[in-house]
This record gives sequence, structure tokens and C-alpha cells, in this order.
Amino acid sequence: MAANVRASNVRTSIRVEGVVQGVGFRPFVYSLATRLGLAGWVGNDVDGVFAEVEGPAEQIRDFLAALERDAPPLARVERVSAQPMSPDGCPGFAIVASDTGGRRRALVSADSATCADCLRELADPADRRFGYPFINCTNCGPRFTIVAGVPYDRPLTTMAGFTMCAACAAEYHDPADRRFHAQPVCCPACGPRLRLLAADGTELSGPDGAAEDALARAAGVLAAGQVLAVKGLGGYHLAADAASDQAAARLRSRKHREDKPFAVMAADLAAVRALCEVDDVAAALLASLRRPIVLLPRRDGTGPGPGRLAGSVAPGNRQLGVMLPYTPLHHLLLRDFGRPIVLTSGNVSDEPIAYQDGDALARLGGIADAFLTHDRPIHIRTDDSVVRPFRGREAVLRRSRGYVPEPLAVAGRFARPVLACGAELKNTFCLGRGNHAFLSHHIGDLENYETLRSFTGGIAHFRRLFDVEPQIVAHDLHPEYLSTKYALEQDGCVLAGVQHHHAHIASCLVDNGEPGPVIGVAFDGTGYGTDGTIWGGEFLLADLAGAERAGHLAGVPMPGGAAAIRQPWRMAAAYLDAAFPGGLPAGLDVAARNSDTWPDVLALARRGVNSPVTSSAGRLFDAVAALLGIRDTINYEGQAAVELEQLAATSRCDPYPAAVTDGQPLTVAGSDLVRAAATDLLAGVPREVIGARFHQGVATMIGEACGLLRDRSGLGTVALSGGVFQNLLLLGTVVDLLERRGFRVLTHSRVPPNDGGISLGQAVVAAAWDRAGRLPN
Ligand SMILES: [Zn+2]
Ligand SMILES: [Zn+2]
Repeated sequence: MAANVRASNVRTSIRVEGVVQGVGFRPFVYSLATRLGLAGWVGNDVDGVFAEVEGPAEQIRDFLAALERDAPPLARVERVSAQPMSPDGCPGFAIVASDTGGRRRALVSADSATCADCLRELADPADRRFGYPFINCTNCGPRFTIVAGVPYDRPLTTMAGFTMCAACAAEYHDPADRRFHAQPVCCPACGPRLRLLAADGTELSGPDGAAEDALARAAGVLAAGQVLAVKGLGGYHLAADAASDQAAARLRSRKHREDKPFAVMAADLAAVRALCEVDDVAAALLASLRRPIVLLPRRDGTGPGPGRLAGSVAPGNRQLGVMLPYTPLHHLLLRDFGRPIVLTSGNVSDEPIAYQDGDALARLGGIADAFLTHDRPIHIRTDDSVVRPFRGREAVLRRSRGYVPEPLAVAGRFARPVLACGAELKNTFCLGRGNHAFLSHHIGDLENYETLRSFTGGIAHFRRLFDVEPQIVAHDLHPEYLSTKYALEQDGCVLAGVQHHHAHIASCLVDNGEPGPVIGVAFDGTGYGTDGTIWGGEFLLADLAGAERAGHLAGVPMPGGAAAIRQPWRMAAAYLDAAFPGGLPAGLDVAARNSDTWPDVLALARRGVNSPVTSSAGRLFDAVAALLGIRDTINYEGQAAVELEQLAATSRCDPYPAAVTDGQPLTVAGSDLVRAAATDLLAGVPREVIGARFHQGVATMIGEACGLLRDRSGLGTVALSGGVFQNLLLLGTVVDLLERRGFRVLTHSRVPPNDGGISLGQAVVAAAWDRAGRLPN
């Protein structure tokens, strides 16, 4: 023992795992240790943060307690382990250099909205970053979207090209500064520069290129009713005055987006409250550092005043997607413009969002009148996340910017690393390693080359970032999914094909931290069944390792195959034919509207020619939407069902009855609901009431089927998953009804119920098979 070691002192070696790098964890440890009078050091390595602290035992205890409790806002501490060691008596506390060798296990954090400290500086004329659109610190700013590699250090971010000025470098190297090791730290003297460009790329901001000038002119573009492209964190957005009918309509027609609602960005909570009903949960979601788009019930919005919204922003929708500014640039633009703006992804139609400057100018040049842009590159395209409050908690519908790449903890370990390739639409992929599932950002619909490139490039990026070399590749059973084809091309890996609806229920189990078994209700549009038919209205007895198809909607033909997905009236024909086997009643408008082809489509359905049989719940909603004259053809996936939900009265009505036939598997006659709806329609019952009775009928039918399955299996927990449960009216009604019947009900919270959650489900099913020894070595 060295001479200067105090006998009462102890020394402890500490390791902290989780999202602890690039989030100010070392300075936090440094200031905590110095405040408690402890000696030692702290550093980063491939596993996270490690430290040794020495001092009186009581202070060490306080230190350990504060490590998790007072961690910086962007840190996610997963584990703290402490080991006693012999004191060495060295005084002082130091931050030591990063050790970058070995396997990388530290986690990159998600992008974060501008923090309150930075906002204060942004608004302070005396601050050297006053009005600077790229202000950030250890507690806020870009992360995932600028990281090109690990370890997370400036040379491996898109800030590598900006050399810090002396003032920024001093802050960066000062452990007591709130910008210590903030990799994107910069200022007007050394950092990215804002510019306003015309659609042809010529510079519109003043000769000195001052940010104020570019911003003021950009606000002028919005005020003139024009379309402004804005470079954000994960890509370009298109912005327009949300109160201007002309501006919103112009954006809609140029973007070739016919009906899908636009999201709106408002300056603060008060501005959102003028547009929407905001309760405490919604306010917390809006103001969180993740800053997602939050779907909220909208106010009327037709009159003048701050709540005014152009009719074409979210036509025919009771909900509105709203978000608060999340970059300094957004804050400044909203301040200068003074009103809410439409802020929608910078793309044409269904293409992926533009994120590279040249590509953005080329692709958006025909849509935007001007570009508010800058020279900090975006490394990876990342869309805004979409959430909504449901029963007092967050329910994520699209998990992307602000959430990714934060891992989801899973109870069952990945014995071998897994890559899960996800579904075809709303694709995400997922990497599994140890107790972590790295669910990717929203990739999109894998139908065009650009999206497929995002998919393959994203997988390569995640594999590098998290150092995962997959030994198992999980995929959907659908042979035509591009994600399946990609999986089958991977050499030297064990393949695990996971049924689509099993993956849905497994993702809901992981979301709730439960292993099952449960009664799984998976209702969606399309999923490949184990019998080669198209499933989508499924009752499964499932846990992570297995699923038995215990019930489903009775099959109906899809006349014309995929054409029946794009043209819901074809499903109305098929369902009406099943509902009225003796012949269709006269006077149905849906038949009259489509009289040219109606007889041929009926004939297709009856003969089974080019008419695959489906148990899809999405197609049942489509049929009723078309029957009610809501929509005969769709412009985006799920549109008819979305509009049926919006039309339906929310007041309680008597449910339509549907026969549930017990059996192995049990079947539910969706055609009973269609017959009741058609009969009411011909009797002149208002469509709002028919829509409500239909929703109640679907919920009642789910309740009855679950009751029969509980009798059979003894299971009292129901997990609800699949895109159909994005329907808030249906979801709320089903949860109420099941709880009244004494069920425990699991719904989605952290993971989307739609196909964005499929890859996570695939990953944990494959891991369960692996743990059970059911996969080859
Ligand atoms: Zn900050
Ligand atoms: Zn600087």
C-alpha cells in the first residue's frame, strides 16, 4: 500500500453499459466525482464507459447511486457493474483517452431535439451562437444521422470536414464545458452555413451568406404561398403555409400526393393547442427530445385565427399529425414565419425522402420554389417518427428519427447474431445480438430501386455500427418479397422463415416484455400463410417459438388478385356475393357505379379464376368502405379503411352480428357483417351509423372468438397486432370489450403494430428457435 493511501478509503472499478457515448457521460462522471471529492479516472472503450473511483465508502455509494439517477438526458444506462480494488492513493480525477480497439459494443444514440440551454443561447444576442441554425451540445443535436462509423468521434461523422475554431475547440476539450466532446460542436465561425437556393440551384441569400438573410427570405417564400424545401436532420422536407389553401393545394398537386394527410409543424405547445386537443400525455410526447409527429384529434380549424388550417392539409381526417421544431433551423424558421407550416417528406409520391443535396435539387426542383439548405451532410436517410397517445402511453406507428438506433432490450438472448429482413411494405430490418434488438429506421416500401438500396445500405451500416456478423437470417415466407429474396441470397447463414402473423404477435410480445403464450389476434392487409393462401384475419395461439392457427376470418376470393387491393369495389363484389348466395339485392350503388366490369368481376370470383382466397381483415374493411361509397379505388395502402374509420360515428351503436363457427380452426363470417351493412344501406340508415355498427361488429366478433379460444386453451391474455389495429376506433372498442370479458390485453407501444414491427418479430422468433436447438448449426 502506497504511503499516501488513507486507510478508510476504498477503490472501485466501474463499468457502465448502454447509450453512454457521445451523450456527455464522461463529463458527467467527472463532475460527479469531483463534487464528491473522489479520485480516479473515467474513459470510453468499445464496451461503453469505464471508471475507477477512490474515496470514503459512503461517497462511493453516493456516486454509484447518482450514476443512473442523474445521468445526462440522452444517456440510456442499461447496466452498471462495480468491482472492489485496492486503493492506490493517487490524487485528482481525470478523463482519459478513448480506447478504440477490440469488439465494439458501445451504442450510438438517436438524434435529439435542441435542448433548453441551446435554445437560450440561440435567442441571446450576447451569445456567439446567437441565431446560429446549427447550435448543439452534448445534450442535443444530430447523432445517428451524421454517424458514418464507430467509435462515435468527430472524424467518423459528417462534421469531419469542419475544422473547429479555437473557441469551439476549447469548449470541446474542457471537461467542465457543456460541449465537452460534443462531436457536432460548431459555431458561425467554423461550422456549417445556411443558404437559400432557387429551384435551379442558384444562390438567393445575400452576398455575405448570413443566416438571418437566408431565413428571412425563406420565410418570405412561405408567406408568398410558395413551396420551400428544408434540409432537416434525416432528409429534406417540403414546407408550405399550413393556413393557405392555395399553398397546401399547390404542394399536394406538385408532389402527386392526392389524399394522404400532411403533417404540420407548429412553433410551440400553445400553437399546437390551437390546432388539436392536447392532453398531458400528448404534450409530453410533443415536447420530448425525440420530437415525433404526434397524431391528435384536431379542432375545427375552418375559422380565422391561429387554429386555421387549409382544407387540403388533412382532408376528411379527424386526426392531425403535428410536431414541434426539433432543430435550431426549424425554431428560427417558425419564429420568422410566425404561423404553423405543413412539413412533409421531401419526395415525389412514394419515393424515399431525399437526403443528399444534389439528389434533392434534382428530384425536388420541380416541386419546391426554393431550398433552405446547408453544407452539413446527412449520412443516413431517416424519416420523422409517428406516434399517438393511447390510454395514457405512447403508441409508436413509425419508429425512425429520434428513436433509432436505440436498441430494444429483449428478455430471451440472441444465442447467435440474427439479421431479420422484415416485410415488403413499411419495411424495417432488425439485428439481434446478446440482449439487444437493433430495429432499423423506417425504410419504406421495397418496390423501387432507391428503397431497396436504402435497405441493403442500411443493413451494411448497422452491421458495422453495432459490430454484428449475422449467423442466422430470418425472413418472411412470401417468396416474392424483395426482403425474402435478399435473405435467400445471404451465403453461409442459417435461414429462418417466419410466418407473417406469427411475427406480428411475437413483436407485440417483445414490445410488452412477455414470452407468451397468448391468444394472438393479427389483423392486417396481406400476409403469406403456411398453406400458401393470403392470411390477414388471424387468431393464433402463440408464443415466441410457435404459433397455431386457431381461427381466422372465413376466406373470400380476391377477384383479380392484386387488383382487388387497389380497387376495394372488387372486394365489395366478392363479399356481397358471399353474403347473398341467392343473388344480390337490387339498388346497390357500388354495383351501379362499376356496372361495366361488375358482372365480369363477380364471374371471376365465382369461378375462382385469378382470385386467390384471402382471410384478410383489411380486405373486409375495404369491402365495406366501397359498399358505403367511400372509395372504389385507393391512392395509398389502407386508405379505404382509414376513411371508413373517419366516417364512422364514435357513439355507441348495436354491433352487427357475425357467426363464429367453432372448429379447428374456428372461422368467423365477415360476410355476415357485409350483409347487415348492405341491408341497412338499402333501408336508408345513415352511413355514419353503418360504419359504427360495422366496427362494433368486428370488435364483438373478435371478443367471441377469443372467448371460445380461452375455453379451449385456458389462455386469458390477448395480444393485438397488425396494421388494422392502427384503427383507433376499432382498437379502443376491442380493448374495452376484451377487458370487460376479463382478458388481459397486450397492445403495441414501442414498436409499430403494422409491418414496421415484422422484422423484430422475425428476429425474436428465430432466436427462440435457436435457443430451443431447432435451427441447424
Ligand atoms: Zn444543447
Ligand atoms: Zn467555432
